[in-house]
Amino acid sequence: MNLTYLYEQLYRWWEQNKRVLPWRDTTDAYAIWLSEIILQQTRVQQGTDYYLRFVRRWPTVDELAAADEQEVLREWQGLGYYSRARNLYRSAQMIVERGWQPFPRTFDQIRQLPGIGDYTAGAIASFAYDMPYPAMDGNVYRVVARLFDADEPFDTSHGKRRFHELIMQLLDRQHPGLFNAAIMEFGALQCTPTLTDTETGESRCDSCPIGELCAARRHGTAALLPVRKPRPQLRKRYLNYTIYLAEQDGRTYTLIHQRTGRDIWQHLWEFPLAESEGALLPLPEGSTAVDLKHTLSHQQLYARFRKQTVRELPDIPDTRRVALDELDEYGLSRLTLIALEKLKLF
Ligand code: SF4
Repeated sequence: MNLTYLYEQLYRWWEQNKRVLPWRDTTDAYAIWLSEIILQQTRVQQGTDYYLRFVRRWPTVDELAAADEQEVLREWQGLGYYSRARNLYRSAQMIVERGWQPFPRTFDQIRQLPGIGDYTAGAIASFAYDMPYPAMDGNVYRVVARLFDADEPFDTSHGKRRFHELIMQLLDRQHPGLFNAAIMEFGALQCTPTLTDTETGESRCDSCPIGELCAARRHGTAALLPVRKPRPQLRKRYLNYTIYLAEQDGRTYTLIHQRTGRDIWQHLWEFPLAESEGALLPLPEGSTAVDLKHTLSHQQLYARFRKQTVRELPDIPDTRRVALDELDEYGLSRLTLIALEKLKLF
């Protein structure tokens, strides 16, 4: 691989095409870390608003560590995957406890923070400190698989090692931060999963600035790469929620409870739940409900949110009586928020 040519072409492409994003203007490791955690499994546009809110509200790790966990969860509301928010908070506390402020300085320290894998640690170390670590996100795996025409699954332990070797052959030791940012962006915008340009209908490979180096383009295999290992079956769950609604003094009250135990949405609040086997429970005639399908990494959820208007709220253990207009003070799952919106209750 002609690396001089690769860097020249890639960096020129980057200068002409990169998106202007707030975390790209900074080398503040704390801010970069926030952006990376927020952007995991979140679209850039949505993530940007959250990022700006978080850095404004908690501009340093000390301030985040001193916050109340429920407040952090509330600020996170709508982003989903709440374990990320909890890890963010736990990490901030760990950094302060260990005296690593303003932010850990080595790859190994960064890697020890909860919720941080090789990708995020590499991204922070290279963007903030220009350390020569790769940052392999899904976009980079795709570009690497195609440049080398590597057709083994990248998400097995063997595959990960192989792809790590390949990216280390490419990494620009002089400018690792620039290289990682550029190749990630290149995967996001140019070397996309579907290679057809939606506007022109042409293959992006035809206008690719590094196409001459690309083995998959030469072999006609680009659209088939990268290869994943076969997915295991998702566990199906059926969740039947009841939204009790009782009017009192011009306000509407409902019941919620906090999730406990080792399960999804730990510590978040939700409506009284009955989980059923094999199917959702039948809906009583005349009831208003909304059915939602929600996919988590290992589970397929089928959820039914049923409104039930009552004169008095029933006595259900471990529930709390709250007014509907106070619900936003509680950390609710994304699914619950969607249901509330669809039922026009929020
Ligand atoms: S030629 Fe096509 S597959 Fe190869 S790097 Fe360029 S866009 Fe990606």
